[in-house]
Amino acid sequence: MADFHIRLDGVTKTYGSLRVVDNLRLDIIRGEFLSLLGPSGSGKTTILMMLAGFQDASEGTIYVDGNMINDIPSHKRNMGVVFQSYALFPHMSVAQNVAFPLKMRGFGRSDIRERVERALDMVQLSTMKDRKPSQLSGGQQQRVALARALVFEPGVVLMDEPLGALDKQLREQMQLDIRELHARLGLTIVFVTHDQSEALTMSDRIAVFNKGRIEQIDTPRMIYDHPATRFVAEFIGETNLMEGEIAGREGDEAMVRLSDGCMMRVRARDGLERGAKVLVTIRPEKVELSDPPAAANSFPVTVSDTIYQGDHFRVQLQGAGQRFIARRDRRAAEWPQGARLHATFAADDCWVIAP
Ligand code: ADP
Ligand code: MG
Repeated sequence: MADFHIRLDGVTKTYGSLRVVDNLRLDIIRGEFLSLLGPSGSGKTTILMMLAGFQDASEGTIYVDGNMINDIPSHKRNMGVVFQSYALFPHMSVAQNVAFPLKMRGFGRSDIRERVERALDMVQLSTMKDRKPSQLSGGQQQRVALARALVFEPGVVLMDEPLGALDKQLREQMQLDIRELHARLGLTIVFVTHDQSEALTMSDRIAVFNKGRIEQIDTPRMIYDHPATRFVAEFIGETNLMEGEIAGREGDEAMVRLSDGCMMRVRARDGLERGAKVLVTIRPEKVELSDPPAAANSFPVTVSDTIYQGDHFRVQLQGAGQRFIARRDRRAAEWPQGARLHATFAADDCWVIAP
């Protein structure tokens, strides 16, 4: 049995008639890096605020280590919190900022000095401990916020879009730094983001949120390759969706009749009866394109545009009565607009979801 660190049981948050978190059931495994991923307004921050104790749940129970914590005040929850805005105290030095949670908790002077040094070491800011926040770059300020969240050695760190204000290069570096810290310290991290590539890069598991509910919770690989719903398929990366119905089944594969009559072989799943309406999803990098007619599971397509993207080409196609996108590597020929090709789909790469 997995060792659950945190359990949310039937947690709901309402504002008037609006249910921004809707009967949430979520078990967070000890030591995991869990991302809450979803569009703006899907309730991610609200969940983090309830975990941190800055907001009360309207209904439901939150457990940490098996104990209900609904009525425990935030400073006694042993959770470090990092927000998008660094929320550093501007009049305090870096060291004083990091020392703050320790003072709040009544640590002794020499203990504080030692712990602050260790925390600043961890985020590589030891040489800047006497500076004021205004004398630091955005990335450095965020590292101070991180040190402040870690300094009292909490078992859980909650992060709300902590890298959102940083530019792309720095953000990607910090993603790797935080991942490494997580691996080294063995913390449980709950990380909120609306950036799907960030969630794929960093997480052990991703919970995909839509309107206060979890659409799917699983590993990055399962979320990407086997999305449970249309929402997940479209929110995580780019995908092609084709409407059809199950026409039959042969062992590990099922036949789908697409709406224009084309037949496709797809990976079979339990519970797909003949006649069931389905959506077939296939990722752009899995679509094969060839000049001569290809084997089974392919149909003719016409190139409507080819866009050079540096490390790959994005090919827009028309076929089987709809639009497709394919990704081909940079050595692929640059097909002219109007080129007639065949698109081939390996049955194993075609994943079926309910419409
Ligand atoms: P996310 O972090 O996923 O963007 P939030 O948890 O911040 O989403 O917000 C979820 C929903 O709750 C939004 O529709 C937001 O407008 C609403 N909301 C958040 N705080 C309040 C509040 N204090 N009063 C009323 N509505 C709120
Ligand atoms: Mg938010």
